[in-house]
Amino acid sequence: CMLCRQAQVNPDACGEMLHQQGVRAHLLCLFFADGISARLDGAGGVVMFHEEVEYALEKAARRECFVCQQSGASITCRETGCDVSFHLPCATRGGCVTQYFGLYRSFCREHQPQQQVEVVPEEEPSCLICMDPVDSQPSYRSMVCPACQHAWFHRECIQEQALQAGLLRFQCPACRDQNAFLPEMLNMGIRIPFRLPSWVVQENVEELGERHRRCDASECLCPGGREQAEQEG
Ligand SMILES: [Zn+2]
Ligand SMILES: [Zn+2]
Ligand SMILES: [Zn+2]
Ligand SMILES: [Zn+2]
Ligand SMILES: [Zn+2]
Ligand SMILES: [Zn+2]
Repeated sequence: CMLCRQAQVNPDACGEMLHQQGVRAHLLCLFFADGISARLDGAGGVVMFHEEVEYALEKAARRECFVCQQSGASITCRETGCDVSFHLPCATRGGCVTQYFGLYRSFCREHQPQQQVEVVPEEEPSCLICMDPVDSQPSYRSMVCPACQHAWFHRECIQEQALQAGLLRFQCPACRDQNAFLPEMLNMGIRIPFRLPSWVVQENVEELGERHRRCDASECLCPGGREQAEQEG
């Protein structure tokens, strides 16, 4: 990958490898890179501008990733004036938030979005998924459901559930809310793939596919955007 300079990465974080017009990069590395306005073309390819890609690569070559200390960091924190840069596969290790929707914004640990939830104070809150203790306030590591405000989980535990469930089925493991829960999780950097949940039985597939053929949400939350959702489903 020209952008993260790594071949063996977590495909859930970086997406598939794209070879197009001399560009060889992970799809999501392309979406997150500074100064590249790539989008899906609806036919399995990507619309991008070569000047942008070249300029982004030049700029990245002079930037060091604060996590792995290698050069070629193509992502910089979106906070104005902050120049903390990193590679997409290094983001989680560096405690960065990468938002897998809309503008694909990224933030360093210091400037990442915070959950604005008035939490119900609890003696020793624990993760609803793995049962281990969580921090008693929302943090990078410990998150809370914005709807019921007392379901706690670790970032990596809820990320795992999001990958298994997909956008159509992902919900708060306690109150089953989706309306407040999904946007909050996306904002906090949880990746929710647009795909059918792993446990959906075969006969339901067509019916579900029908339901999301055209994404009519006023603010489409489908990772990759409305076009990808339509293309895939
Ligand atoms: Zn990459
Ligand atoms: Zn790195
Ligand atoms: Zn920053
Ligand atoms: Zn956990
Ligand atoms: Zn909840
Ligand atoms: Zn959608």
